[in-house]
Amino acid sequence: MATFRCKDLGLACEYEESAEGEHELMKRIEGHVMTAHQMNPESPEVSEKLRKAIR
Ligand SMILES: [Zn+2]
Repeated sequence: MATFRCKDLGLACEYEESAEGEHELMKRIEGHVMTAHQMNPESPEVSEKLRKAIR
């Protein structure tokens, strides 16, 4: 089980997501950060940040 919290990125956001695997989780997070935080998940810096925040 993989879990992600926006708070771990230092964002003032209550978003939290869990999925069976990291790949599935990344897909869900990408949608959220794009719409809620205007981040581009296709940029290497952003995707690395997201990956590191997954636990
Ligand atoms: Zn968020």
